[in-house]
Amino acid sequence: MASLISHGVAAVGISALFLRPGVARRVWIAGTLCAMAPDVDVVGFAFGVRYGDFLGHRGFSHSLVFAALLASVVAFLLTRSDSVGIDAQLLWSYLLLATASHGFLDAMTDGGLGVAFFSPFDLTRYFLPWTPIRVSPIGISGFFSARGLQVLATEFVWIWIPTAVLAVSAWFLRRTAATTNREP
Ligand SMILES: [Zn+2]
Repeated sequence: MASLISHGVAAVGISALFLRPGVARRVWIAGTLCAMAPDVDVVGFAFGVRYGDFLGHRGFSHSLVFAALLASVVAFLLTRSDSVGIDAQLLWSYLLLATASHGFLDAMTDGGLGVAFFSPFDLTRYFLPWTPIRVSPIGISGFFSARGLQVLATEFVWIWIPTAVLAVSAWFLRRTAATTNREP
C-alpha cells in the first residue's frame, strides 16, 4: 500500500474535480473512505489468506470491478433517503475514480506484489511502468521508523504535491469561469 493517509489525500484531489456548490459533505467523506477501503484486505493476513490469493492484499479489493461495485453500493446508500446535491451519474463516477485511484497508486509503489486490476477475470498482478513511490510497511509499528519517513517523503512528492496542484488548478479554473460568466 501507499499509506492510508496518502490514499485519502489523493481522494481530496479527485474531489476537487467534482467540487460544486451544494454537494452534501457526506459525499466527500464517502469518497475519501472509498479511496482507503481496498486495504481492508490486510485483515485477510490474520486469517491465513496469502498475499497472492484472490482475496489477498492488492487482490480483488484493488480491482476495477470492485471499484465499480463499491461505487454503486455507496452511491445507492448516499442517495437512498434524500438528495446529496450531485447528479447520480457524476456521483458514481466520482466514487469510482476515488476507489480506483487506490489501485493505481499502489501500482506505482516499488514493492510487494502488483495490483490485480482485472480480477476476477484475470488474476495477474500489475505494476505501472513507473514506480516512484516507496512501498509503505504494513502495520503501524513499521510506519513510525526511518523507512516510514522515506515512504512519506516519496508520497509527499508523488501524491500530495500533485493533489495540491490539481486542487488549486480546479479552484482557479472554476473561479475564472465564474468571473467570465458574470461579465456582460
Ligand atoms: Zn492498497
